[in-house]
This record gives sequence, C-alpha cells and structure tokens, in this order.
Amino acid sequence: MTNRTTVVIGGGVVGASIAWNLRNTSAPGHDVQLLDTHLPLLGATAYSAGILRRHHTLAEDIALAGESIGFYRRFADHVGGSSGYTRQQFLLLLKAESAADASVHRGYIDRFEPASRWLTSAELAGRYPYMTIGADEFGVLETDGGYGDATATALSYRSAFVGAGGDLRCGVCVEGIERANGRWRLRTNVDDLAADDLVIAAGWQSAELLAKLDIELPVVARRIGLAVIHGDPAPSSGPVVIDDVTGAYFVPRPNGSVALGVRARPRWDQPLPAQPLSRAEVTEAVRRSSARVSSFAQARVVGSQAACDGYTPDNRPVLGPVPECDGLHLACGFSGGGFKIAPAVGRHVADGVVTGRTPDAIAAYDLRRFARGDQLVPERRYAHL
Ligand SMILES: Cc1cc2nc3c(=O)[nH]c(=O)nc-3n(C[C@H](O)[C@H](O)[C@H](O)COP(=O)(O)OP(=O)(O)OC[C@H]3O[C@@H](n4cnc5c(N)ncnc54)[C@H](O)[C@@H]3O)c2cc1C
Repeated sequence: MTNRTTVVIGGGVVGASIAWNLRNTSAPGHDVQLLDTHLPLLGATAYSAGILRRHHTLAEDIALAGESIGFYRRFADHVGGSSGYTRQQFLLLLKAESAADASVHRGYIDRFEPASRWLTSAELAGRYPYMTIGADEFGVLETDGGYGDATATALSYRSAFVGAGGDLRCGVCVEGIERANGRWRLRTNVDDLAADDLVIAAGWQSAELLAKLDIELPVVARRIGLAVIHGDPAPSSGPVVIDDVTGAYFVPRPNGSVALGVRARPRWDQPLPAQPLSRAEVTEAVRRSSARVSSFAQARVVGSQAACDGYTPDNRPVLGPVPECDGLHLACGFSGGGFKIAPAVGRHVADGVVTGRTPDAIAAYDLRRFARGDQLVPERRYAHL
C-alpha cells in the first residue's frame, strides 16, 4: 500500500499502538498521521490501573490478552521505551461453584506460556496470610500477570511512531468528517485534512465522531476510578487481585500503596472533566476490599483517580473495518479493559487497514453485531468478571 494516507483519531494507548503498528508494517510511501485533541494524555489511558491478565470469560478476549502480555514482556525490544510492565503475578479468586466454568477458561488461558496455577483455599491461605480466604474458595494464578503503566506505554508508542517517520499532531481536534470523491475529508480546529483510511480510536468520544457520518455506535461514557491507600506493607509484593467473590479488585505497588477498584457508574452524562471519586465511593471501595484484606480498613486513603472510558452493551470493544464504509476502521468501546489488549488490538487493526480484510482475531468484535442482535456472550460467566 503506497502513496496512501491513513489518519488515526485518538492518541491514547490504543490509537498510539495502532499508529505505531501501521508505521511499522506499511510501505514507506504510506503516510500515517496520529491526531489528538490534547498534548498531555487526558483520556482513560492517563488514569488506568494497568492490570495485565489473561483470564477472561470469552476465548477471543483471552487470545487478545495473551498475545498482549507476551508483547508487554518484551516491550522494550519491540517498541523501545517502557510499558512499566511489572510481573507481580495476577490472582483471580473464585467460589468453588465456578470451578467447572473456570476449567473451560483455563483451557484457553494455558495455551500461552507460562501455564496458570490452580490454588486451593489451603494453599491460598498459606501463601497470602494477609487475606481472609473462605474454605469454599480457590484461586487461579498467572505468574506473568501484574500491571503496567498505560501512560508510559502510550508515550513510548508515540515516540517510536515519530521515530519511524510517523506524523504525530497534538492539539488537533477533529470537528467534522465527511466522505467525498472516495476519500475522507476531516475538518479540525487548525486545518482540513484528507485521508484514504480513517481509524477512529477516540475513546468514549468515538460515538460523537461516528454520529457525524450518521453511523450509530453504541458506546457510552462511564466513569471508573481507583481509591489509593497507603500504609499497609503486607501485600506490597503480593499479586494483583480480582476478587470475583466480593466484586473488589486491588493492585499492590512496591512503594506500599494499593489501588482499590471502584465500579463503573452505570452511565455518566458529564464525562469532561471526570470528577474525582466522592467520599462515599472511596469508603465503599475500602469496605469491599477489606472484606478480603482486613488491614486495608486501617490504611490511610491518600487519593483517588477517575476517568471515563467508552462502554458497549456487551462490554466488549468494537474493532476493525466498518463493512459498508470503505476505509473506515474502529477501535473503541474498551469498557474498562483496553490497556491489557492494546498491543494485540494495535497489530490486528493495523493489519486490517493495510490488507483491507478483517483479521480473524478481531472478526467477532465488528460493529454490526449489535444491529444483528448478536452481542458477544461469555461461554461461561462468573459472578462479577
Ligand atoms: C480508573 C481506570 C482504571 C482502569 N484500569 C484498567 C486496567 O486495570 N486494565 C486495563 O486493561 N484497562 C483499564 N482501564 C481501561 C483502559 O485504561 C482504557 O480502556 C484504555 O486506556 C482506552 O484507551 P483509548 O486509547 O481507547 O482511549 P483514551 O485513552 O480515552 O484516548 C482517546 C483519545 O482520543 C482523543 N480524542 C477524542 N476525541 C477526539 C477528536 N475529536 N479529535 C482528536 N482526538 C480526539 C482524546 O483526547 C484521547 O486522548 C482503566 C481505566 C480507568 C479510567
């Protein structure tokens, strides 16, 4: 593909990954531009907990997550710079009644190295004495899981993209899009642009952009957040935990702080600026997670962070080409989980742009599934995950 121009709208971790992949896989004459409204990162990427795990409830999600963790493990070799990948292990806590379902997912998860480990309640209690473990609970441990730094990752992708000849333009907000004479015409706050291919990776704002083309994208803004506590050194080297029994999740950091997850607000109608958490939300996050780690209740709350991400009706992203719109590609609606799959999403969406075909790995995530009434449904579901 030579003498073509591709514009990627949105320079968060997803758009930056797509742009870098495009720059690296396309011919030299292929001009790739990455546009973002802001110079600093201000979208969901800047506030992410950065949890990296393979465990999901759908084989396609597991494949994207597994491919991405492998990439994060060697991020510096591939991209240069840092992704902040910290191999602190990932632990999913489940009720015994989920064991049959978990073994199905585990079959997909263990296609990637290293294999996960199944821990009984006695093993959990022995390994993690700071946690309260019920006799009817068990855990699935991923030794290469942990967390990364979404901001550092996005900046590394951006920098490598520019180093490979990509055109990064910040402070450029796309205000209008139309199709004319077989090309995309973009109106921005600074100039007008033309492109052969357009990739919309604008987070929760993607729906507004698609509306300019009379395309309905079922992506709404929801606010999610983290309460940060400090002062309990016990779990600082312990695993990142998603607790399917209580609905809590937490990310211990080596400096003794722990980020506690706060659930998405059902729908958020004032997405900018996303307000920090309320005291009630912080209290609820501490209460929920201290059912598992009782010392969290005594730790000092040092802060909170919150932002909006785009959510779809089935909580899965919308990826790949839009069939009826030649040269239009989507990567949005990550529903609170875009960081852990950004490397794989970047590779496959870029592949779709370059080849003009939908890669198998993202075929299930096409926009038309909603119109077909064919939403993605987990093969086996747990209580919260
Ligand atoms: C508190 C919190 C915790 C999270 N924890 C995790 C986690 O543990 N693991 C995980 O995998 N994910 C997590 N996520 C989700 C993850 O961070 C997001 O899914 C991911 O960052 C989305 O990246 P993005 O590039 O799609 O969107 P964004 O980072 O929102 O980037 C979109 C960009 O598009 C730009 N843009 C929008 N409109 C325009 C326009 N008209 N013109 C130009 N530019 C435009 C915006 O300026 C923005 O920079 C979390 C998110 C939050 C908020």
